[in-house]
Amino acid sequence: EKTPVTLLGLGAMGTALARAWLAAGHPLTVWNRTPARAAALAAEGATVAETAAEAVAANGLVVVCLLDDASVEEVLAGTDLAGKDLVDLVTGTPAQARARAARSRERGARYLDGAVMAVPPMIGAAQAGGYVLYSGSTEVFERHRETLAVPAGTVHVGEDAGFAALYDVALLSAMYGMFAGAAHAFALIRKEDIDPAALAPLLADWLVAMAPSVHTTAGRLRSGDYTGSVVSSLAMQVAGTPTFLSTAEEQGVSPELLSPYFTLMRRRLAEGGGAEDLTGVIDLLVRHG
Ligand code: NDP
Repeated sequence: EKTPVTLLGLGAMGTALARAWLAAGHPLTVWNRTPARAAALAAEGATVAETAAEAVAANGLVVVCLLDDASVEEVLAGTDLAGKDLVDLVTGTPAQARARAARSRERGARYLDGAVMAVPPMIGAAQAGGYVLYSGSTEVFERHRETLAVPAGTVHVGEDAGFAALYDVALLSAMYGMFAGAAHAFALIRKEDIDPAALAPLLADWLVAMAPSVHTTAGRLRSGDYTGSVVSSLAMQVAGTPTFLSTAEEQGVSPELLSPYFTLMRRRLAEGGGAEDLTGVIDLLVRHG
């Protein structure tokens, strides 16, 4: 017997989730503000509820995939959450997730927050590499482990409801740093007779080769030792920065994406971190107090 699921929200992501659960044989009750979006799913076997309250009443497991936290507040306002296992897949901040967890507890529900690390086409596709980060109620996560694993892989990152959102934003922030670096790299070759497609495979391989350095960084942050077995010292790397800035200038490229990182590297060097690697820059970013 497959666990019945209630799903609120049938946008691009909600519809993909719905199809995955239907395909896996889970009884599914859906509700969407605009009823037309539920019609196709009804034909595929979903039960369409007239109201959000009716959908919530139908099953013990309630999954929410609406636009934002404000829409969750609005939609759940008229529902009875007592005794429900509420899984919130809406993207938000850690503070929003913690507040939502507290509100849910007040209303008698157990709360699990989820952050979807996938785009809709990756949902329900075997081996697609997408996954959902979960945090909050371990009880809910364990009880519904198999059901939650139907749309994508699952990773539970802690009992603190805010952690899934925090990991989500951390991963996406690193992604934007990578995009920024790639943008600068492509800008450098733009005025030359170089095919961007010639740079791309070298760039992709280089980024992949450098990516495991995050393990070294994690080890240094845990031990507090930023200077042991340093391969490329901060002093050496700062000495190299004029080459990067001059090359940007020669190529007529703005250094605005690269400069902020170099500024932090120079400040750490000035504060005596020359024998370290780049780990010390992290400490400069964290505001205390
Ligand atoms: P869509 O814009 O496709 O759908 C939004 C959904 O929210 C619709 O069902 C819409 O209903 C509903 N909605 C919006 N406002 C309200 C409201 N005030 N009251 C009731 N319902 C409302 O978004 P997605 O499905 O793509 O995204 C859903 C969540 O999943 C978001 O939090 C998003 O950040 C997250 N996500 C999405 C990813 C993606 O690639 N799409 C990737 C990872 C996470 P209606 O049909 O009536 O407009």
